[in-house]
Amino acid sequence: MTIAVFPGSFDPLTNGHLDLITRASRMFDQLVVAVGQNTSKRGVFTAEERVAFIRQSVGDLPNVDVRIETGLTVAFMQSIHATVLVRGLRNSADFEYEQGIAGMNRHLAPEIDTVCLMADAQYQFVSSSLLKEVTKFGGDLTALVPVPVAEALQQRLGSDD
Ligand code: ADP
Repeated sequence: MTIAVFPGSFDPLTNGHLDLITRASRMFDQLVVAVGQNTSKRGVFTAEERVAFIRQSVGDLPNVDVRIETGLTVAFMQSIHATVLVRGLRNSADFEYEQGIAGMNRHLAPEIDTVCLMADAQYQFVSSSLLKEVTKFGGDLTALVPVPVAEALQQRLGSDD
């Protein structure tokens, strides 16, 4: 039984993240989405809100679990016997970034492998940070995030409040 972990900030969840969660859930017996906080990014939503957005969207994926995890990802993975760390690649900047993290994680926990999935072409330009910027200036994001996320983004950052 292979347990995989998909860690990230998910601030907030996008359809790009959701596509990756769906695909990874088909590849591994169990997938744990670990919601953390990237220390170099300022969060708009609390960890609990970010978890709720994901839970609302993965109801039809029985082997997906969502939880808050703020410690070292590989230590958390070891504690639940997870052996695959899933991340997404949209472009070469992601690759550079992920390569460094994967190298460090492999140093810390050689039994854990990082598996990177290529972003689907339709979501290659989708990032949580960009969506937050676009919301501030009134752009329409309905095709890029689940409905509850679009509503929450509008409420929190929208130009008309
Ligand atoms: P982090 O702050 O840990 O990078 P993010 O929530 O920004 O957290 O991203 C989590 C993971 O999801 C990263 O591996 C990122 O590359 C991937 N990802 C983000 N957006 C997309 C997307 N549109 N398509 C595929 N993967 C994505």
